[in-house]
Amino acid sequence: MNYYSLNHNSAKVNFAEAALRGQAPDKGLYFPAFIPQLSKDFLSNIRNYTKEEIGFKVMKPFVGETIPDTDLQKIVNETIHFDFPLVRISENIYSLELFHGPTLAFKDVGARFMSRCLGYFNRHAYHKTTVLVATSGDTGGAVANGFLGVEGVDVIILYPSGKVSKIQELQLTTLGQNITALEVNGTFDDCQAIVKQAFMDEDLNQKINLTSANSINVARWLPQQLYYFFAYQQWQEEEAPIISVPSGNFGNICAGILAHVSGLPVKHFIAACNANDVVPQYLQTEEYKPKPAIATISNAMDVGNPSNFIRILELFKQQFSSLKNKMSSISVEDITTTETIKEVFQQYHYILDPHGAVAYYALENCLQNSASGAVGCKGYILETAHPVKFPDTVEDAIGRSIEFPEQVQHLLSAEKKSIIMHADFNNFKEWLLHR
Ligand SMILES: *Cc1c(COP(=O)(O)O)cnc(C)c1O
Repeated sequence: MNYYSLNHNSAKVNFAEAALRGQAPDKGLYFPAFIPQLSKDFLSNIRNYTKEEIGFKVMKPFVGETIPDTDLQKIVNETIHFDFPLVRISENIYSLELFHGPTLAFKDVGARFMSRCLGYFNRHAYHKTTVLVATSGDTGGAVANGFLGVEGVDVIILYPSGKVSKIQELQLTTLGQNITALEVNGTFDDCQAIVKQAFMDEDLNQKINLTSANSINVARWLPQQLYYFFAYQQWQEEEAPIISVPSGNFGNICAGILAHVSGLPVKHFIAACNANDVVPQYLQTEEYKPKPAIATISNAMDVGNPSNFIRILELFKQQFSSLKNKMSSISVEDITTTETIKEVFQQYHYILDPHGAVAYYALENCLQNSASGAVGCKGYILETAHPVKFPDTVEDAIGRSIEFPEQVQHLLSAEKKSIIMHADFNNFKEWLLHR
């Protein structure tokens, strides 16, 4: 498989190079040269396969010959080494729980796959690779955990001091080894600005081998398809599902659409957004107007210019009408999100996190709206994080406290280690060069 740049001004590369570079030299996103087609036989017999077999079968064409089969199978097995249960919430709505990984976030899958691929590609390297990542909470934890102990790779995470939840902070700051947490006196945007400037700084890039770990990277984006196959394996209803995806950078939903283009039956996609409504607006007006991000209670989706949206357009061959037929999008206000958490808990005893709640409201709204043509249909949401990661919002809404799941119990007694830093690029650069 080759990958071309969506800016069409760089050479095609294989999976290894696309994963190592992250972005093409012309700053475009890499996109697969063709979409592999899965056989009807495989899809209709999907229940007879293990999730490891599905993982290998789906990922193999994208990886091509850059990783030998036995190594790829090992990478896949480690990536998906936890459960992905499809749980019924109400008569017509299910939840695909993606929070059973080590950091309780769906980003574990992408981060684990990417880290192991980079570990493989760097296995003979004499120079260390340094992964830089800015986080508003979830990404940093998943990336740090995914890369923990991977040889030849150092990870530096920048997070805004006082603006991530307690568990999220512990997940970032207690790992040690090759993971360093920088606690920045500023906002998430400040952290992101420092990381962006670092990638542009020629002097720095000559001295240090820098890579990014965001969902632009094909090795993080592509394995997210697997969620949708695992859900299909568990889907017992007659008709194909409507799938509602809480969306920020649109990497997750874009991977779902890719799975669908490969043959996976899906009736309709809903891109569920918070107040950051660039895509809902686009679907109404056909005008794409990026805006500065607005802070909300579903903060992992506070994105004003979703980087993967351009890949979605490419999957629909730049045809607005086919995109509009297959995907709708809605913006949900914080107050509705909180109400949804409360109501779903009261009616069904299911605890949603704020991101899953945005998706739930969007799906319920679609299933009840006669104009959508989906009345009587069934679907599922992607529950992208465990509610315990957003205790303030969730506990307020449901009126009781949430228990810490087993995976994170150990964090409570671990020691936080962070380096406090001003939100200033030169300061950061000095530190990075002399540490
Ligand atoms: C990152 C994240 C999202 C958004 O996913 P995208 O792929 O960026 O659209 C949704 N929910 C949670 C909990 C996240 O961490």
